[in-house]
Amino acid sequence: MKPKICPKCGKKLKKINVSVEGAKNKVLSYQCGKCSYFDFDQKSAKKVIQELRENPLKLKQKIVKISGNRLGMYFNKHVVRSLNLKKGEEIYVSVPDKKHIVLELE
Ligand SMILES: [Zn+2]
Repeated sequence: MKPKICPKCGKKLKKINVSVEGAKNKVLSYQCGKCSYFDFDQKSAKKVIQELRENPLKLKQKIVKISGNRLGMYFNKHVVRSLNLKKGEEIYVSVPDKKHIVLELE
């Protein structure tokens, strides 16, 4: 990537990684050492926003009747996307206590 130039004074911008609370990804920012110009890298900013939106993923969902008396649950599209789930994939289900169901991907 070419070094970014300050649109105000033409100096080379310094790349600085900014950490965001609750996100593992950092936002890349461009700062000018001469004037006060400051900009965020759109791609990394989007990544952090998406990360914050997805983690921690806690969703309220309903248990639904699938067929007969069998019960099931649909996976929310955010879950599907963040885990890259596919039809036919096998997962392990365990019940560590009366308040949790743990699904583990192979
Ligand atoms: Zn500048």
